[in-house]
Amino acid sequence: MNGFDREDFVNFINQKWKGNKTCPLCGVNSWAVGPIVAPNLFERGAVVFGGKMIPMIPLICESCGYMMFFNPAVTQLIKSEPPAEKPAEPENP
Ligand SMILES: [Zn+2]
Repeated sequence: MNGFDREDFVNFINQKWKGNKTCPLCGVNSWAVGPIVAPNLFERGAVVFGGKMIPMIPLICESCGYMMFFNPAVTQLIKSEPPAEKPAEPENP
């Protein structure tokens, strides 16, 4: 995934998070944005490798490790870029 801007995400969180921005577990206000993760789905009693995945942006409490996850599709913060075009191969005469 390309085009994820942590600063945009922090702005999004600050805009959406009403009230006290402390951790619900330990009460400290110190958060870090983790890398986007995409766990495999668990369906019919088994982990499905290579199938659909749900990308998530973790927000991690730096005091106790409590994490909350955000769906990038809802935050609209991931801008997918078209795959880079291959340079044209020189034609052999
Ligand atoms: Zn905490």
